[in-house]
Amino acid sequence: MTSDSTLASCASVANQNAAARVDLTPLTTFRTLASAQQLLVLKHHRDLLALPSQLANKVFIVLGSGSNVLFVDDFAGVVVRNALTGMTIVTETAEYADIRLAAGEIWHDSVKKLSQSGFYGLENLALIPGTVGAAPVQNIGAYGVEIADFIQSVEVFDLATAQFVEFSAADCQFAYRHSVFKRHAYRQRYIITAVVLRLHKQFAPVLSYHGLLAAGEPQTPADLLAQVIALRQQKLPDPAVLPNAGSFFKNPAVTHEVLANIQQNYVDVPYFTINATQAKIPAAWLLEQAGFKGHARANGAGVHENHALILVNRGNAHGREIYALACDMMKAVKQQFGIDIVPEVRLVGVTE
Ligand SMILES: Cc1cc2nc3c(=O)[nH]c(=O)nc-3n(C[C@H](O)[C@H](O)[C@H](O)COP(=O)(O)OP(=O)(O)OC[C@H]3O[C@@H](n4cnc5c(N)ncnc54)[C@H](O)[C@@H]3O)c2cc1C
Repeated sequence: MTSDSTLASCASVANQNAAARVDLTPLTTFRTLASAQQLLVLKHHRDLLALPSQLANKVFIVLGSGSNVLFVDDFAGVVVRNALTGMTIVTETAEYADIRLAAGEIWHDSVKKLSQSGFYGLENLALIPGTVGAAPVQNIGAYGVEIADFIQSVEVFDLATAQFVEFSAADCQFAYRHSVFKRHAYRQRYIITAVVLRLHKQFAPVLSYHGLLAAGEPQTPADLLAQVIALRQQKLPDPAVLPNAGSFFKNPAVTHEVLANIQQNYVDVPYFTINATQAKIPAAWLLEQAGFKGHARANGAGVHENHALILVNRGNAHGREIYALACDMMKAVKQQFGIDIVPEVRLVGVTE
């Protein structure tokens, strides 16, 4: 999906409303009003084996905690909720352990449990909402660390063959907030059932993000975990209190030429260099310049007062209303800077 296709689709949102029955409001952290035709909850591997026939000729979406999804309208299909649980050690040496986590495990609980059990590396990714199974989908990342740094394999159920298959880390083609699992054909075919992570037994903290050092260099994994949690609680709204889906847009990569043009009008534009040809500009900065920080609409759709990248639902906003705001934000950035910003959140009912 390109940002152009997202922008082009802003004008016409498909109305998929067709005798929908299941209330999706509590199933996403945006808590927007939407419904689906059917909900299937996966608790056991045998539940997966029944899926190919249950989903035959039906539109479906796999959902974890719904923290990276916006239902723009009612969903005329089946929601498959992943609730597979379990954590096992696959291999262990003096230096590392390969740990298999079932896809329905809660990510933050797993990070805490593993760190407290002497398996280190994931501390920077603490408090990211959601399930283990969704983590590789967008290659979750925070404070200089990505899940791709630890993935040995991703186990999936193949709906086309009714077989369990393993993807190596290379097969997943991880990139910034991206993997093959975001491709349409993969979404229609594979359900992630487990992730195998290689974690260290020696604590070697990644402290490249300057904010992590503000409270002093962490001496123990517990210190680092506490610092990451405190930092996130201070900076990010708790979706249980103020419904949101975290960063709504990805940070755009631009050429150094585009960056230089922007610098002519905005001398202090923040950026970080990717390589000799490209740099990344924080989408939050672009949106703040475009005047969206703290934006509020009567329908409840809005933008967080401290963070222009976080769209929020301050009332009973419909997915369409959040989406309309997102479209206005994309258009404004395009108009002011000539830059396309692309949603990080999956927009269900727009581009698929
Ligand atoms: C307050 C807040 C802060 C956040 N901070 C960060 C952050 O720092 N870094 C970051 O990377 N993300 C962040 N996010 C985004 C989100 O938490 C992650 O993307 C998370 O991995 C989503 O998990 P989920 O279970 O809620 O997935 P869902 O939202 O349910 O699904 C997300 C996508 O994954 C697919 N999917 C889910 N489970 C499976 C499965 N088992 N098999 C196949 N596909 C599946 C869905 O179809 C969908 O496309 C934040 C979100 C919030 C609300």
